[in-house]
Amino acid sequence: MTAINITEWEKAAHAVYAAESILIVTHIDPDGDAIGSLLGLMNGLKSLGKRVVGAVDAGVPALFHFLPGADEIQPKLERGEWDLMISTDASDEKRTGLVGDYGRAHSRAVINLDHHATNILFGYVYLVDSTACSAAEVVLRWFEQMELPLTREIAMPILTGIVTDTMGFRTSSVTAQTLEYAKTLMSAGASLTEITARVLDNRNFQTISLWKRALATTELHEGGIISSVITQADFTEVGTTEQSDQGLVGFLIKVEEAMMSVVFKELPDSKVNISMRAKPGFDVSQVAFGLGGGGHQQAAGATVEGELLAVKAQVIALLQEAVKHGKLTIV
Ligand code: 5GP
Ligand code: MN
Repeated sequence: MTAINITEWEKAAHAVYAAESILIVTHIDPDGDAIGSLLGLMNGLKSLGKRVVGAVDAGVPALFHFLPGADEIQPKLERGEWDLMISTDASDEKRTGLVGDYGRAHSRAVINLDHHATNILFGYVYLVDSTACSAAEVVLRWFEQMELPLTREIAMPILTGIVTDTMGFRTSSVTAQTLEYAKTLMSAGASLTEITARVLDNRNFQTISLWKRALATTELHEGGIISSVITQADFTEVGTTEQSDQGLVGFLIKVEEAMMSVVFKELPDSKVNISMRAKPGFDVSQVAFGLGGGGHQQAAGATVEGELLAVKAQVIALLQEAVKHGKLTIV
């Protein structure tokens, strides 16, 4: 995937200044960067006196309820019109779900703010930089361009996005500049201790119960591919409402013998969600893109139609082919 860097800071700022009402949406199954960049934008643009609505299908996951403004995010959109819509952390339109569909039909213009190399460049104004460690970093850089004063309400969600997408400043996307950004955000009142404790280190017993079932299915395939499967029965048995692997795929990639990890999640309506991670030097984004999804070299995913075990066999074969093109760069 070639890098993309199309950042129309001024055009985007003018679109904001000209708007009275702004809708912000992010991707379905939101992670810390989706929610962090959404809330950072919402709280920042509100401080400019704009009327701002934030929305994501199914609302904010419980893990992120501590963030300022999380209780205002709408899980559905049934009415409203906006001068401007901003899509954050989503590489294509489909990824913003039903709120994205509604928003596009009821907004005059769309800003596409993202950091995925797989971004398909939808929308009217681009703030897309695939070298950014997170969408939240793009939000911060934009606010710096606009000389917008940072408050704790703005800084907390943005630092959460950076912390989660860099797995606690550990990915290859982290530079000295990333740490400068973190310093700026902490100086504005964001607590790194609270963010890491709440979003990286905290797992409840239900999650461990889910992992216990999923780990029973774990296999190490030829080529260094490790996989686990989560079925609808697993979610029902454990009693979770959020159908997430809660970070299992990130746990599996820690296995020494594995170069790529994959978790297959059975969804209702004969769909399968595929979540993948790679060690530095390997690329799972191409496989994800080929399956109609997207992501980054080291973290990517897709949702496809099909029967769980058939999808599993097909994707393992694709990963076994992709792993041949990589080489472990950090041992
Ligand atoms: P996760 O495995 O945590 O669900 O997703 C990892 C990364 O892959 C996400 O941050 C996102 O960049 C990307 N991703 C996951 N699923 C999809 C998908 O269905 N479509 C697209 N475009 N990207 C996805
Ligand atoms: Mn992201």
